Amino acid sequence: MNVQNKELELISVTKRYGATVAVDAISHKFQPGGYACLLGPSGCGKSSTLRMIAGHEIVSQGSILLGGSDISHLPPAKRGTAMMFQNYALFPHLSVADNVAFSLKMRGDDKPSRLKKAGEMLELVDLSPLSDRLPDQLSGGQQQRVALARALITRPQVLLLDEPLSALDPFLRIRMRGELRKLQRELGISFVHVTHGQDEALALADEIVVMNNAVIEQAGTAREVFNAPKTAFVAQFIGGHNVIALPDGHFAIRTDAVGIALPGNGNLQGNILGVEYQGAHVAVSAMIAGDQEVSATIPEAEFFNNPINPGDQVGLIWDDANLHKLTA
Ligand code: ADP
Repeated sequence: MNVQNKELELISVTKRYGATVAVDAISHKFQPGGYACLLGPSGCGKSSTLRMIAGHEIVSQGSILLGGSDISHLPPAKRGTAMMFQNYALFPHLSVADNVAFSLKMRGDDKPSRLKKAGEMLELVDLSPLSDRLPDQLSGGQQQRVALARALITRPQVLLLDEPLSALDPFLRIRMRGELRKLQRELGISFVHVTHGQDEALALADEIVVMNNAVIEQAGTAREVFNAPKTAFVAQFIGGHNVIALPDGHFAIRTDAVGIALPGNGNLQGNILGVEYQGAHVAVSAMIAGDQEVSATIPEAEFFNNPINPGDQVGLIWDDANLHKLTA
C-alpha cells in the first residue's frame, strides 16, 4: 500500500454530551505507523475519542490533525481514517465481496473496478474463496476479517478499531489479535484500537494510552506503562502490581518482584489470605499492617519447595530498587 505514515495528533480535544464531559481536553501525538491501544474502564471516554477521530461524533472543543491538517470538521469519508465497528455492522443481504466493495459503490466507482479492489482486499485477509457467501454463512472470525477488508478498502492512513475482538470467544480472540498485529505490520499504517482489556493492550500495542475519567492518565510503550506506572490507577488497572502505602508515600511493586520469607524476615510481615495455583505460577495474597493486601506471584517450583497455606504468618521480601513511587 502507498503509505506516507502521517501523524495523528489530538490537541486539547473535548467531548461534551449535555452536562456530561466524556473527554476532557486530551492531547496526544500518536506514533505514525504504530499500533496504539486506548485502554481504560467502561465509560472513561475511549469510544467518544475514537468516534471523534473517525468523524462520527462532533468535537466539542479542540482539534484533530492528520499529517498537520485539521480534519476535525471533515466528513468521515474525507479524513483518511476508516473505522471497524465492534459488531462488524455487515449488511446481511450483501455478499462478502459486495460488503467489502460497499464504500466504493457509494463513492461512485464502476463495478469492475470495485470488484477488482474488493478481490485484492479479500486476498489480503485470506478470504478469497468465500467472496460469494452471505455474512451469516461465516464464522465470527471470518466476519471480522470481512469487516477489516471493508474498512481497509478505502486505503486509510489510520484504521480505528472499536473493541474489535469483544464479540469473539477467548480462543479466537487470541488468534485474531495475532492476525490484527500481523496485518498492521504488513500495511504499515497507524491502528488505534479501543479496548478495556489490559492483556489485549499489552499483547498488541506499540503504544498504550491509558484513559480514566475522561483524561489520559499515562501514555507510553507497553513496557513503559507496565514497568513504570505513574499513578495508582494505572498500576491497578494494568494489573500485575501491588499498590502499597508506606510511611514515605504510595508505591507500586510488581507482584513477581515480591517473595515469601520466613516470619520475622523480609521487608514486612503478613498473614496469608489466599493461595491460587495458576499453572506456571502460584498467586499468594497476604494481609499486612494497615489492612493492606499484598500479592506475590511465585514460580510454581519455588512455591512447592516451601508450600504455605492461608493463615500462615510470613515475611514479604523485595528489593527496594523495585519499588516505584507513584505521583497520585
Ligand atoms: P468508553 O468507550 O470508555 O466506555 P464512552 O466514550 O462510550 O466511554 O463514554 C464516555 C461517557 O460519555 C460516559 O459517561 C457515557 O455514558 C457518556 N456518553 C457516551 N455516549 C453518549 C451519548 N451519545 N449521549 C450521552 N452520553 C454519552
